[in-house]
Amino acid sequence: MDSPRTAVVLVGQNPTPALLSSLTLPADRLLLLGSDGTLPVAHRVARAVERLAGRASVRVASVGPDPHDFGPVTDTLAAFHRDNGGEPWFLDYTGGTKVMSVAAALFHERALPPDRHPRAPRWRHYLDAQRDILRTADGSHPGRPVVGDGVDLRTLAGIHGARWLDDRDPEPVRLFVQGGKQALLARFPDMSPAVRRGVVAEGRVLSHLLRHTRRHRGTEVLGPRQVADPLHPGGAVADFDAVVRYRHRVLCVEAKSRPDDVVARAGWTVTKARRVFGGAVQVLFVHSGPAVPGLRDRVTAYNPALSARSVHVWSLDDLLARLTSFEEVRKAFFPGLGAPPRRGGGARTPVPPEPPPDGAEPPERHPGPGDGPLLVTSLGGSRMGTLTAVHAHRPADTLVLPSRQSVLSGVREAAARTLHAAENPGADRPEAAELKEGGYRDRVRFTPEPVDGADTEAVTGVARRWIAEQRSGGAAAPVVVDITTGTKAMSLGLALAARRSGACVTYQLGRRRTVVCMTHGPVPLRGRAAVDWPLLLPGYSPLTGPLAEWACGEARDQVDADLLDAARDALVRAAGGPVGVWADASLGHPVECLSAQERPSLVLTFDDRAVGLAAPGWSRRRTPGGGAHPVGRGAWAQSVFSATLLLNTGCDVAGTVVALTRPGGDVSRAVELVDWITQTEGEGRGRHARIGFGEPLRPLVAVASPEDLPDLFDTDVTLL
Ligand SMILES: [Zn+2]
Repeated sequence: MDSPRTAVVLVGQNPTPALLSSLTLPADRLLLLGSDGTLPVAHRVARAVERLAGRASVRVASVGPDPHDFGPVTDTLAAFHRDNGGEPWFLDYTGGTKVMSVAAALFHERALPPDRHPRAPRWRHYLDAQRDILRTADGSHPGRPVVGDGVDLRTLAGIHGARWLDDRDPEPVRLFVQGGKQALLARFPDMSPAVRRGVVAEGRVLSHLLRHTRRHRGTEVLGPRQVADPLHPGGAVADFDAVVRYRHRVLCVEAKSRPDDVVARAGWTVTKARRVFGGAVQVLFVHSGPAVPGLRDRVTAYNPALSARSVHVWSLDDLLARLTSFEEVRKAFFPGLGAPPRRGGGARTPVPPEPPPDGAEPPERHPGPGDGPLLVTSLGGSRMGTLTAVHAHRPADTLVLPSRQSVLSGVREAAARTLHAAENPGADRPEAAELKEGGYRDRVRFTPEPVDGADTEAVTGVARRWIAEQRSGGAAAPVVVDITTGTKAMSLGLALAARRSGACVTYQLGRRRTVVCMTHGPVPLRGRAAVDWPLLLPGYSPLTGPLAEWACGEARDQVDADLLDAARDALVRAAGGPVGVWADASLGHPVECLSAQERPSLVLTFDDRAVGLAAPGWSRRRTPGGGAHPVGRGAWAQSVFSATLLLNTGCDVAGTVVALTRPGGDVSRAVELVDWITQTEGEGRGRHARIGFGEPLRPLVAVASPEDLPDLFDTDVTLL
């Protein structure tokens, strides 16, 4: 029977999908494929699978040091396919980098061609995290419901490299849960009222959750837990008041006796929950007393990175009164789970039939800017990749596929401007009319309708029809499909279109200023892309004078303006070319600036690179005119992480964040927490750290004072 006995599962930074796929695919042998950087993650997943599934064989392999190069991924899989005797195999390409996913999916299709293996599309999987099924490449197949048998909280924390410091619940909360307030008072008669209120608040939430989840399959509730600190044996790096699991989903619970504490602690709580359980975790804040109107909105205003979807704020009174059954708890915190999966993997817009493969082969050599290629690319969360694609390929004509989430405004003109600058070096910035008359605007167009970012086939169809249309005039312009931006499913759709149309598939490597072609290998980039920074940095305005003079008095309590000014002056001095200076506009508003510590205060732009500077203060106000509260180490680290995410949203790999703090206090611990959150324990810190690009989610933390800046501020960023 033509059914695979082996599965290959790609592993990236987020291990949960790899674990679930490994448990779901019905294979005896499993190969977990990561890169050198993710091997520790792959080994943790392997140990969990061995323990839970008792499979005959679990192997871990690496594609090598560079997960952004097509060649090594394809070569690794080709070697595996030979060793496997050319037999069929399952593939799950959810994890790993985009290049790994696309190379693996294309190799699977080529190694198991439909004429010999008509069912092969059903063996190619992608985890649909919304519906909890492994979708297949066969649209008529309903997909495989995810199996998570045996996956408990310890396993989920374990694959993220976290373990509990101690398995016992701390005594006070345990006493309260077992015997109420009386038992607590009998054992701890001298406990201060404030501490007791905290224990009672935690204990009541925990008792309630235990009562309503008891005897329900797939649920688990743990009381207070501390996460072991990898750097300090015996110490804790984070803690949770309670943790609830339903199937493979996790809810971390934080009980607060005062509603105001919810607002202040939300950022750090969400950050540590995601670090230990992955991005899909839900967080519940329960505060004592009656509900406070608008509290949820205040959390978002304080920290814009906290989305309503994964953060729940309840008063204890409401929780006790309204969630009185397991079903109500499930619906409130684990929506979607428990509903039967829809057939066909969800609603699909009908797609017109694709043209048959046109048998075209990729050109002999990679089409350079002088060849006037046709470019197909998608628009991702950041618009940066679309602009740099236009710069890299200098297309005669471009089709951009936006998804429903894409923000289109200004992109066409910005892309036309980037093209104009590439072809007219040294020319003045053109007016809109000039771009139109010069034909630059017409060389960039969007599909009339956005595409479904999860629908590979639809993307393939749209791209192939456009390419066929362009070629129908008889002109045989070479075609480049750039997959740098957009979702993985969109990138795969574009790559499939390229294969069927004889086009090159490219990915831009920002760090190395190179484009990698799947057929022709690395191609160096020429020049720097001209970037419309205001488009990529909404909420920022140009700044000429010192930040310390421009920012309002309230803002100067939230961030260290003098330190930011000193760092900016040094970087501007060191630069061999022009530098754009942009300031977080909220710093000028006494109310909006209350969340300014969560964003880079300054962004310096050097051609097509952006350096964000953040210096969150060590005390801050939560309300206009309110008192200044000291900032905990975790909250400081979280602010740095939040600023990093914000710059990444706008600039993608073109951005990097440097966070600054003055020497003294608890700085080294805060720096360790930043490292723990970003999983960069101990890498490139200290006075010899360098500013670099390519790992936009790893901020650099610099201990500095305006009079004594470390060497990294002597970097000429225009050379990077
Ligand atoms: Zn090529």
